[in-house]
Amino acid sequence: MAKTSNIAIVSSPGYTHLVPIIEFSKRLINHHPNFHVTCIVPSFGPPPESSKAYLKTLPSNIHSILLPPINKDQLPQDVHPVFLIQLTTTLSLPSIHEVLESLCSKAPLTALVVDVFAFKALEFAKEFNALSYFYFPSSAMALSLLAHAPKLDEEVSGEFKDLSEPINFPGCVPIMGVDLPDPAQNRSSEIYEHFLERAKAIVTADGILINTFLEMEPGAVRALEEFGNGKFKLYPVGPITQKGSGNEVDESDECLRWLEKQPSNSVLYVSFGSGGTLSQHQINELAWGLELSGQRFLWVLRAPNSSASAAYLEAAKEDPLEFLPRGFLERTKEKGLVVASWAPQVQVLGHSSVGGFLSHCGWNSTLESVQEGVPLITWPLFAEQRMNAVMLSDGLKVALRPTFNDDGIVEKEEIAKVINSLMDAEIGQGIRERMRTLRDSAADALKDGSSTHTLSQLANHWESFNGI
Ligand code: UDP
Repeated sequence: MAKTSNIAIVSSPGYTHLVPIIEFSKRLINHHPNFHVTCIVPSFGPPPESSKAYLKTLPSNIHSILLPPINKDQLPQDVHPVFLIQLTTTLSLPSIHEVLESLCSKAPLTALVVDVFAFKALEFAKEFNALSYFYFPSSAMALSLLAHAPKLDEEVSGEFKDLSEPINFPGCVPIMGVDLPDPAQNRSSEIYEHFLERAKAIVTADGILINTFLEMEPGAVRALEEFGNGKFKLYPVGPITQKGSGNEVDESDECLRWLEKQPSNSVLYVSFGSGGTLSQHQINELAWGLELSGQRFLWVLRAPNSSASAAYLEAAKEDPLEFLPRGFLERTKEKGLVVASWAPQVQVLGHSSVGGFLSHCGWNSTLESVQEGVPLITWPLFAEQRMNAVMLSDGLKVALRPTFNDDGIVEKEEIAKVINSLMDAEIGQGIRERMRTLRDSAADALKDGSSTHTLSQLANHWESFNGI
């Protein structure tokens, strides 16, 4: 019988960091069944229903361990969500260590893979004689920023957002400082300090697994491989999403039933990820913009909040539909459907009635749209989403980017204009064609192309480390 290689994976809290790392584990054991994965999941509070339901669907050779929630009394007040995610994993270090100790008392550990926000757990790899890896759940462009951040920090004085020229990360589309992720927007802040700490930590691992694929970001991937030469090895294993992961589809779902009745490619899907929120003013403008466009839409609506990432770790309790402009639902009932807080996004994007996606450009949403060949309207809110938006619109040219006014609002006329351009058969044609080409290369990468080859290389390396 083949010897089993044991892999431990540490995710960070939040559904959208949990899913890709577990989907990676599923892909690993599907292709290489002699691996056993233990996924250690830090918790901010009681885990959300979506995470609990998801963890119940795992195959027998992936074992998940939900760690006890952290003691919130130890948290500072008014913390940025990014910092909260990192703090949760840091406060969970003793429990992570305990689980690893117990695992290693039964069988040797081949590799420890940690989400980038759980980077402090990587130090345990040495103690347990395991290889060490980061799982980077975003783009090669975002990783380029992290890789070059220490040098950028030395060379640039003042805030990046005040730079008059774009920054050129090797192999990436040029980006203005104002489009860098939140932690890089205020260099005297604590989240910037932690961002630099993560940047310095990534080069200490044996390798970095990244959820992108060579054909989507060839320049950035090759430049990172060169950069890593001798320091770390890069493994682009994506796109890893829930598409085709065998999770059941609920055919009775309201969104899917409604989509069945719409013409092919006619619906704009509107969603801001697992926790993105808009202000009341912006909800009104978006509603009026959708109405003005006259296009069909499926909108996943969340209650307003002045902080765009407010619902990321803890969902709001109010009924979001109450925050729509008066009479909106009645006036648009022939054209649109608004659902509260959640839709089965992977199935929605895969439905033939969907022809466009107005998205906050979270990396999972981006990859899901790419896998289904659905062109995008980019509406970044927080984290590295502005960077993803720049790559999609200026770099890959598979998206349109609306203009925000000086108050940070996209006005209804602009919304209607950009929606009509994307959905228009002629204007949107080039964008649609490029997105279809990207979809095909994503499918090839996962079938027997670059990402499958990379995964095999990694698995062989792990097996040989284990003496199989
Ligand atoms: N998602 C979903 N239904 C929703 C909203 C989000 O299934 O109504 C899923 C989506 O398919 C994606 C994830 O949640 O896998 C969102 O991840 P992303 O990285 O795009 O954004 P984040 O939530 O991290 O901001």
